[in-house]
Amino acid sequence: MKKLLLLTLSLIGLNACAAPPESSVRQPNVIVILADDAGYADFGFQGSRDMQTPNIDRLAASGRIYNQAYVTTPFCSPSRAGLLAGRYTQRFGYEFNLTHRPPKGVDDTYMGLDVEEKTIGDRMRQQGYQTIAVGKWHVGDYAQFHPNVRGFDEFYGFVGGQAPYHPQDSKKQGKSAIEHNGKLLTPKAYLTDDFSRVAVDYIAQNKDQPFFLYLAYNAVHTPMDVLQADMDRFAHIKDPQRQRLAGMTWALDRGVGQVMAALKDNGIDDNTLVIFTNDNGGDKVGLAADNAPLRGTKGTLLEGGIRVPFVASWPGVIEPGSASEQVISLFDILPTALDAAGVKKLPQALDGQSLLAETEQQRALFWRYDNMAAARSGPWKLLRFPDRPAQLYNLATDPGETRDLASEQQETLRALMKDLFAWEGQMIHPRWNTGPYWSQEDVRRYSAEHVKARNKKARKPIGGQIR
Ligand code: CA
Repeated sequence: MKKLLLLTLSLIGLNACAAPPESSVRQPNVIVILADDAGYADFGFQGSRDMQTPNIDRLAASGRIYNQAYVTTPFCSPSRAGLLAGRYTQRFGYEFNLTHRPPKGVDDTYMGLDVEEKTIGDRMRQQGYQTIAVGKWHVGDYAQFHPNVRGFDEFYGFVGGQAPYHPQDSKKQGKSAIEHNGKLLTPKAYLTDDFSRVAVDYIAQNKDQPFFLYLAYNAVHTPMDVLQADMDRFAHIKDPQRQRLAGMTWALDRGVGQVMAALKDNGIDDNTLVIFTNDNGGDKVGLAADNAPLRGTKGTLLEGGIRVPFVASWPGVIEPGSASEQVISLFDILPTALDAAGVKKLPQALDGQSLLAETEQQRALFWRYDNMAAARSGPWKLLRFPDRPAQLYNLATDPGETRDLASEQQETLRALMKDLFAWEGQMIHPRWNTGPYWSQEDVRRYSAEHVKARNKKARKPIGGQIR
């Protein structure tokens, strides 16, 4: 019965999607707005009571909310690589976060998005798009991984994993330095506002030609720098960490509002596909993010680590106010963008599928990180650990993963395990890893008590690692 309901919902969704524009119509602009580390529940349209996100809520109401959207990896760097490449990152050995402290004697110049991979920038440029990346890059520090040689005509942002939000002299900031196409500069405002301003300028400059804008905010990733005025709006929130987070989220929302206003002001809002999502589950160690009703945090393969808010809006094409239960992944963004651009036959190497096209209903997704792995097929979710028996959950009835059905549903468990092994057989060995500290810490983070205890100490960086 549930399957039937899902199928019906999905078909309603499909009917609401018109065909991509005719070739005589100008190609639509495509904008991907990415938040960083935000909680699953920390947006108004996701039911938050603390966070206020009126502009993102308006965007959500103008399009479709995907309730079962997943990242490829539960933390920043490989997740962004999966979005950019449109593929499982384990196919090219990008299984771990970048480590900025490689073991002695290790040549780390290969640590980044494999130069053989074509990015969404490369592929949209081939379709005649002006390609622009604004914000956090985090898929390689070395010159061969720089956005300007990875498919983006324009880059304004920083190549590392995190940056201070208050303007700093970039000469002293290393990988957090703000640059425009390789030229260092000092931002003019609070970083979230600075990125929004730059995105708005690019929209105005490119209004007469199709463009692809990857607006990858580092908000609301740590450090928890916040504008006083933004924080003051949330004086009623008693938890100081949540209050700061609400202020940071407010700035992010302000930026989304400015981008949407710029599209309208330039008369291109009707011809622009906008996707809004987040790069991994909410961080509960450092941000006190709220992933309710999901369990777990960033870095785990629990739903709270891998399921993210996701909105797609395209006036006249995607039905406003709609919702989908289709299981999707951030690697679907690339084929969706190509489909919107008018590409009839998608490249075979991609793992994703266009959200604008008819899709298979029984899609399976897989995850592997270090010594943990997971699989999702239909309502079933398998979790495989190095130090305890595998677990099985029915997400249709138990999205919070509270009732392990492994012993009751052994056939389902075996079938999913077999599918997982088959998928792993297509992947390659990781090209680097982040070392024993994280291998152990990431297993510990399946415990809510451990996460809570770590958050108490989260004022300082953990293990010297930027995550
Ligand atoms: Ca992140």
